[in-house]
Amino acid sequence: MKSNNNLYENVQAIAEKLSGGIKKIAMVTHRNPDGDAMGSSLGLFNLLTGMGHQVTMITPNLYPAFLQWLPGNDRVIVFERKRKVVIARIREADIIISLDFNDISRVKEFEKAISDSNAFRVLIDHHPDPSLFSDITVSDTSVSSTAELVYEVIIALGYGSRINESVAMCLFVGIMTDTGCFSYNSGNPRTYEIVSNLLKYNFDKDEVYARIYDNFSADRMRLLGYSLNEKMEVFEQYRTAFISLSRDDLNKYNFESGDTEGFVNYPLSVKNIRFSALFIEKKDIVKISFRSKGSFAANIFAKRFFNGGGHLNAAGGESKASLAETTDRFVRLLKEYEKELGSDD
Ligand code: 5GP
Ligand code: MN
Repeated sequence: MKSNNNLYENVQAIAEKLSGGIKKIAMVTHRNPDGDAMGSSLGLFNLLTGMGHQVTMITPNLYPAFLQWLPGNDRVIVFERKRKVVIARIREADIIISLDFNDISRVKEFEKAISDSNAFRVLIDHHPDPSLFSDITVSDTSVSSTAELVYEVIIALGYGSRINESVAMCLFVGIMTDTGCFSYNSGNPRTYEIVSNLLKYNFDKDEVYARIYDNFSADRMRLLGYSLNEKMEVFEQYRTAFISLSRDDLNKYNFESGDTEGFVNYPLSVKNIRFSALFIEKKDIVKISFRSKGSFAANIFAKRFFNGGGHLNAAGGESKASLAETTDRFVRLLKEYEKELGSDD
């Protein structure tokens, strides 16, 4: 498998494809883009655009308002709004760069266009076990975020001098959000060397933080309060807690996309809790987020029971059963995992 072990070899192939004139590049990221999806993609988008390439940045669906200010945001094309344009741009691309997802099914809206394409395909990602749907896979699960890996790729390509304030700010947002403001996945000194280099571009770090984290509606804050007060269930014996929100709950607080971002982390702040889940009732499915601490593999649990996947400590999945059936099943599964979850190590 091509991996980050041969980053330089991979990067050589990317450099060759980028050389020799202006290239048409389509960049894609996963459904429900988060801060790292948008930060890593728009960081690279701004860099490649600055070099004169014709770059189209594509997301499957719209992302939360707290991410809609990043430099380059006005150039993002959302598939759900402009389907034909997206398919055309993917078809005519010389290079397709996929960021922050490990399986092409996470962009199922235009999966076929990508797999049918003759373009040179590159994947840059930090999730475990990337499926090899690209010509080049730059994968490293040890980095904090895809944004951090994009920085390494930019440096390895020899494009470091092309980084500007916009590029630096976007990559910083990716690193900051994927580490929960440097509270997890952020023990490697290299992450801070990169952050240190990015901060040299003089963007206002505190302002960037505030735009992401101090940008909620009052309704969202009240939904959080309600979730913790009335909807959080704690199972001490399984060292697990979860929150489930029905469509009625969400409607009551005028839910907007992104409002429940981060909710899943709160139960982990309860003493001794090492596994948490958030169940959100959508139109056709229940969307689930999982977080864990230590060695309990949230991604394996998500894959085995909820048709999902992700990282060791941050994963997600879905269920076609009702919300109540889904949470009941979850609690039954906890019993099966009692030994693993309930132990002291
Ligand atoms: P979140 O809980 O923030 O939506 O997702 C956390 C992580 O879980 C994501 O970075 C992604 O790796 C993974 N993830 C979330 N939902 C899914 C899913 O439906 N399928 C897979 N394979 N991974 C998911
Ligand atoms: Mn990420």
